[in-house]
Amino acid sequence: MRIVRLRKGLSEAEKAVAVSRIQELSPGARVIGAGGDAPCFVRVEPKGVDAAAVPAEEFTRLENVQDVIDDAPEYALGSRRLRPEDTAVAVGGGAEGAVVIGGGRPPVVIAGPCAVEGYDQMARVAERLAALGVRLMRAGAYKPRTSPYAFQGLKKQGLEIMARVKREFGMKMVTEVMSGDRIDEVAEVADVLQVGSRNMFHYAMLQELGRQPKPVLLKRGMAAGMHEFLLAAEYVLAGGNRNVILCERGIKTFETATRNTLDLNVVPHVKQKSHLPILVDPSHGTGLRPLVAPMSLAALACGADGLLIEVHDRPEEAVSDGEQSITPVELAALLDAVRGAAAPARDAA
Ligand code: PEP
Ligand code: MN
Repeated sequence: MRIVRLRKGLSEAEKAVAVSRIQELSPGARVIGAGGDAPCFVRVEPKGVDAAAVPAEEFTRLENVQDVIDDAPEYALGSRRLRPEDTAVAVGGGAEGAVVIGGGRPPVVIAGPCAVEGYDQMARVAERLAALGVRLMRAGAYKPRTSPYAFQGLKKQGLEIMARVKREFGMKMVTEVMSGDRIDEVAEVADVLQVGSRNMFHYAMLQELGRQPKPVLLKRGMAAGMHEFLLAAEYVLAGGNRNVILCERGIKTFETATRNTLDLNVVPHVKQKSHLPILVDPSHGTGLRPLVAPMSLAALACGADGLLIEVHDRPEEAVSDGEQSITPVELAALLDAVRGAAAPARDAA
């Protein structure tokens, strides 16, 4: 695909003039991912008036055009072709300051229960997480359950509990949004809006998430290829929201011994193709508590920007996903192992 990049710092009027000149050469051309001071890219349709047959110089000699990028992948905005440097996503702010995910920063850990079950449960877990230095908490208020008869989450009440836990423990919250009409409601509490595996293909919602500024944690569809995964992210980026964090959470294979097959191939593959940060969720990826720690270490060894881990202080009582939730004590051991694994080899000498 051909992309025409406009110069930085143009006024809206200058951009509009440049875009209409580009459209004279290629009528199907349209701006993608514009917003704020983001670089302005114009996607030139390869069909119609055959833009690819128009020499690149026809575009580059137009006023306010910086350059022409040919052979950009379809997931152009997410690709390293358009942005070679790693994207860093700043989560939250306020008195405690933001937590940065990606951009070559040390790996982050997002931990917490599968679902908000009540204030006491959330407060107990938050206290343990805070003591371990974990600043990002996860929990679902709207739960995408396979069975319509299973617990669907505490919904609005769950969000209220999260808001209180945020205030009391200084946590930043990652929580799922399942439909476009709830984005505003969830975003009032969430520092990161999670898109679950089942909704990776919910393109209308991805488009709406692209039109709002909160970071989006996009989980890989359980039957989505890497290309589809990057194109789902592109839906958000194309709307102008550049704060996208990918998350591998396991895919469906013939293997039934584990809940899913954690596809760690995707981590170095995405790192090569895309500038977006990528996390790994070893909890849903394996479905089995004893596998969470080793697969966490494996994920970090292959370059993941962080982990999303289900933690419950009483996993046997958890309303959902107790069998894959680790305890705060197990999380503490895992964090020690992560720090040990990250230590340079010379420390041992
Ligand atoms: C979750 O993380 O709460 C969740 C439901 O995971 P997934 O969408 O990956 O199944
Ligand atoms: Mn879960």
